[in-house]
Amino acid sequence: EVPDGLSGYTSVKVFSERAKVEDGFMVSDYTYENAVVKRVPGGKYEVTPTKVDYQFKLDMRVSKTGLMMVGLGGNNGSTLTATILANRYGINFRTKQGVQEPNYYGSVTQASTLKLGVDEDGNDVYAPFNEVLPMLHPNDIVIGGWDINSANLADAMARSKVLDYDLQRQIAKHMAQIKPLPSIYYPDFIAANQLDRADNLIDGDSKWDHVQRIRQDIQDFKVKNELEKVIVVWTANTERYSEIIRGVNDTAENLIKSIQISHDEVAPSTIFAVACILDGVPFINGSPQNTFVPGCIELAEKNKSFIGGDDLKSGQTKLKSVLAQFLVDAGIRVLSIASYNHLGNNDGYNLSAPKQFRSKEISKKSVVDDIIASNHILYNQKGNTIDHCIVIKYLPAVGDSKVAMDEYYSELMMGGHNTISIHNVCEDSLLASPLIIDLTVIAEFFSRVTYRKTGSEDEFEKFYPVLSVLSYWLKAPLARPGYEPVNGLNKQRTALENLLRAFVGLGPQNELKLEERLW
Ligand code: NAD
Repeated sequence: EVPDGLSGYTSVKVFSERAKVEDGFMVSDYTYENAVVKRVPGGKYEVTPTKVDYQFKLDMRVSKTGLMMVGLGGNNGSTLTATILANRYGINFRTKQGVQEPNYYGSVTQASTLKLGVDEDGNDVYAPFNEVLPMLHPNDIVIGGWDINSANLADAMARSKVLDYDLQRQIAKHMAQIKPLPSIYYPDFIAANQLDRADNLIDGDSKWDHVQRIRQDIQDFKVKNELEKVIVVWTANTERYSEIIRGVNDTAENLIKSIQISHDEVAPSTIFAVACILDGVPFINGSPQNTFVPGCIELAEKNKSFIGGDDLKSGQTKLKSVLAQFLVDAGIRVLSIASYNHLGNNDGYNLSAPKQFRSKEISKKSVVDDIIASNHILYNQKGNTIDHCIVIKYLPAVGDSKVAMDEYYSELMMGGHNTISIHNVCEDSLLASPLIIDLTVIAEFFSRVTYRKTGSEDEFEKFYPVLSVLSYWLKAPLARPGYEPVNGLNKQRTALENLLRAFVGLGPQNELKLEERLW
């Protein structure tokens, strides 16, 4: 039943009347049940259940995929590359704890499970996340990319000071063969302190030529490595925000025109995004800046090309999107969140400049917005917001071990108060790199999914270009224009799990446990 190629048989076989494999495609029928709610005067709600029948069609064959990172020579880029190579070649290494085998801890797709159902006794049964349907394996990802710094990846890895020496020593020969492609550098967008790194630049000042060059680079990489797909992830320095200017970057047409006249307000990350969009290459923004100006989103819509962003959700913010949700859902009124960070890597150095810090501040702050807005019992005329402050300091001594200290101050019953303090120390790039794997694996996966309404004769089509299913890994999730982003981590994961289930003909995950609860 399963076609040739990289696809795989997975260990999960679902016997559902609603899904079947035909000519290498899994075709499933799904009834999307929801409810439309009308708020009526007097604080009342009118709820009407809705149902829409869809057909999903998934190409079961995993494509041979390349990942091109912008910022390949940075901490994330070099750490991820070394990790993939160590896993691919099975390189064990010694640490002071003993022998360490390579793994992909911290990756949802590689190291987490999801509940399939219950066993005959009614107890939960879990399977690896990537075994429900065929997914790209990170060991098979071909890595490439760009950096404004010319260091080869062995030198970049040493500079990053993330991985243990014994691994660096063994993997250096593989890493040294990878050299970042020259990139584009518009000094105004990243901190002035990055100037010394910029020794690997594409010639010329024409922004339109830069777009064409990036397109060519992707095409060449694809041909050279015989790839079917390339996914591009921005893991370069955080840029300042671009100003949204009418006539410049507000529509797809204006953005293209602005690039053609090399307008100052077009950022390098937007140049990369546009280059990808023009060729249907998925582009994901792992940093906080507003790469996806309105004109860029419109261009993605027109070209039906996947985009996702913004900013990797790795440590402090991930915890915040769980803890704030828990407090508010528990009926506890969070009054303030104070978040302090210090870090000593190049990301911290770049963020020590005010405009780049501002991008991070915006992205870190937005994470509780929808959680607060979900509870109008706690957030009402008395106060509909919380005090939320973000501080980031550059402290070279701690290197990649980022320190995050958060204080959650909340109001309890009868005017009581509760303070939760969290002190979180974590090797930043080891936490962030597996997220780039997940973003790549899931983006590749969704590029194989199409759908149509049941009964329609229309062609199957891809999901809407803003890939909000990636939000689990992103701090300030980019949502389709007109829709509010969802920040809560559990909601984000539930959406992903349920989509996977829908594609194999299973209903949404539920915790009803009627086997146990009913006689
Ligand atoms: P880093 O500074 O080590 O790496 C960034 C790399 O990008 C550098 O090698 C730099 O030379 C390169 N670069 C800068 N501008 C470029 C351009 N125009 N084209 C190509 N290369 C360019 O940073 P990092 O720790 O790897 O983090 C990368 C990004 O990911 C940062 O923006 C950071 O804010 C974001 N991020 C990181 C984490 C984490 O936990 N590590 C979490 C969320 C977001």
